[in-house]
Amino acid sequence: MPTADGAHSRRLSSDDVYHQLRTLILENAIAPGERVNIDALARQLGVSQTPIREAVRRLEGDHLLHKVPGKGYQTTPLLDLDSLRQLFEFRLVVDLWAVRAVAVNRLGNPSGWLHEEIERFTRAIVGVPDIRQHLLEHDTRFHGLILGALGNDVVKNAYDQTHCHFHAFRLYSPDTNGALTIEEHARLAHAIEACDPDEAETAMREHLTKAFYRFARAFDDTGNIQLRFPQSPRIF
Ligand SMILES: [Zn+2]
Repeated sequence: MPTADGAHSRRLSSDDVYHQLRTLILENAIAPGERVNIDALARQLGVSQTPIREAVRRLEGDHLLHKVPGKGYQTTPLLDLDSLRQLFEFRLVVDLWAVRAVAVNRLGNPSGWLHEEIERFTRAIVGVPDIRQHLLEHDTRFHGLILGALGNDVVKNAYDQTHCHFHAFRLYSPDTNGALTIEEHARLAHAIEACDPDEAETAMREHLTKAFYRFARAFDDTGNIQLRFPQSPRIF
């Protein structure tokens, strides 16, 4: 089994092991349904079993590994197209509501953090040939900032439980240089900054729709699959 960065000599912390294993799973270097052998991983990474076990438990929480009775841990299967649709329809309900709520909140407006996050991502990918992990982490943080600004832990926890970013990015890397994501996120950040809920909702709907069809390219035959949008009446 390869390592994510080819490094064997450096002493790895539990966090390093977690990130390295997570990258291997997300990039399908450990295939869906493949058994994960804790002894072999410990030998390969030159660490004791303790950080491997900790990483494996975290990855189980991420729904990237699951325990099979009598067989130990295996990577979970990839989403099929219908599951991807369901995930994005959930996001359309939650993210559209969230962005409207956040865009009318002048006191707790997160646009400064959103612009900062876009700038940080833009700097981080300069000269990087494969931006997949940067893109995943940026998109997770960007939408997490909007949901975090809502101040509703029930909604935030329900969203986090879907692990939507991990599972979508496991299918396909949809934006090879990050330009589309930066453009769509910048539009969202500006609409939130302007406290314009209609434009923020439109920008979020378009962003999620485009992102869904970008991820759906992982499938040879997408048929006539269509996202169903939440409709008015609006709550705000
Ligand atoms: Zn996004």
